[in-house]
Amino acid sequence: MDRNAPLGPENLAMGPTSKRLALLASVLACAFCLARPFSLVPFPFSLSTDAAAQAPAAVPKYDLLLRGGHVIDARNKISAVRDIAIAGGKIAAVEAKLNPSDALKTVDVTGLYVTPGLVDIHTHNYTGTGERGSYAGDNSVSPDGFTFRVGVTTVADAGCAGWRNFEDFKQRIIDRSKTRILAFINIVGNGMRGGKFEQDLSDMESKPTADMALKYPGLIIGVKTAHYAGPEWAPVERAVEAGTMANIPVMVDFGANKPERPLADLVTKKLRPGDIYTHMYSGLRGELDPSGHVNPGMIEGRKRGVIFDVGHGGGSFLWRVAVPAIKEGFLPDSISTDLHIGSMNAGMKDMLNVMDKFLAMGLQLDDVVAQSTWHPAREIKQDGLGHLSVGAVADVAVLRLEKGRFGLVDMNGARMDSTERLMCELTVKDGRVVYDLNGISRPDWRTLPAGYGQTGDGRWDGLNPARGTTPGPQRGRGGAAPNRR
Ligand SMILES: [Zn+2]
Repeated sequence: MDRNAPLGPENLAMGPTSKRLALLASVLACAFCLARPFSLVPFPFSLSTDAAAQAPAAVPKYDLLLRGGHVIDARNKISAVRDIAIAGGKIAAVEAKLNPSDALKTVDVTGLYVTPGLVDIHTHNYTGTGERGSYAGDNSVSPDGFTFRVGVTTVADAGCAGWRNFEDFKQRIIDRSKTRILAFINIVGNGMRGGKFEQDLSDMESKPTADMALKYPGLIIGVKTAHYAGPEWAPVERAVEAGTMANIPVMVDFGANKPERPLADLVTKKLRPGDIYTHMYSGLRGELDPSGHVNPGMIEGRKRGVIFDVGHGGGSFLWRVAVPAIKEGFLPDSISTDLHIGSMNAGMKDMLNVMDKFLAMGLQLDDVVAQSTWHPAREIKQDGLGHLSVGAVADVAVLRLEKGRFGLVDMNGARMDSTERLMCELTVKDGRVVYDLNGISRPDWRTLPAGYGQTGDGRWDGLNPARGTTPGPQRGRGGAAPNRR
């Protein structure tokens, strides 16, 4: 039997007679011997012979099996060839060898890397308001167009909305997107609506910011302060106040470089351990000291537990800063894009492009994956994301490391040549395929019946599930469940 052929009712209905009989026989045989020790799918009937004989077709133990890939899972310290099984939207097993006959769908990912779904904690997604020149508007991008195709399953919007407009952002974008969207809430009540709003100290209130964060725990995962051009510490102080009240980290875009509030003081005095300094290789605020070495304050800040994040963006990544910093061992805790309309077509292309830059600077793939999965998930206290533990949410990226001649460009248009590039072959969110570049999860059209319809099964397929195959509330054609938070 073609191991890619779905073993399920829809196949029984459409296959040739002999195939149907063979499938039926194997299904019934399975029904007598299912032990299902690791399955997360509720077992619908007892193991008595009578019950088995009367039972409907047995449900395979796993919905989806990714077979033969090199798994990189930093939390579980795995970097080795493993099979990964998924059931009910969760990781069901990670073993050296799993049996394809236990799975409704098996995808051969030999030669590819299998990682947790990538977690990009610096993006801008509050689009759709129609506001020009605003990150609560035209500067933002709708996440689904930019995430699954590069293996990203979770983003954290970096402060586009404040407490005044967060709920508009939520209903307009977060609740309607397939990408898992979390958010840093801006300390500015109006969020990133431009200078008039972002420079207004009177709209930076810690209490209503914290109250909104506490209203949406697990969705608002941090407080953002950004773009401030004045000499005061107030934006940082109020963000930290709000973060303390809501027990969430603060992410800082430190705005204009001001002698009254030096970077060293920010990371050694003002921020708490666990707070995040983004744009770490921008060079805009003294990340390197005049001698060209890493600012000693940053090294001291890291010792205190302050987190350093990439946040590449359109204006925050320079080879002449990153290369010497990396040479001195000042690596990123997390890799992020700062994806928005002004960054995505320039030096920064997408999450994989930013990861490629760190590979080009000599980091190991295992580390780059850790910095793009488990590290950022941990930074925003989302311990259930960014790893492939049994029982975890089944968000998975299947990546190809291509060899060739490539070029990588920084914010000032300077290029570094490279010989490796990550491409995303397959993305799985909540246990369902939501992106498949080369159709590795799809059947060859010549093997299908004449007049074939939707080819997948909703238990593993978020793209082309046949009608009636998606468990639970009908999610409809077109894919994975949207965010429900
Ligand atoms: Zn940003």
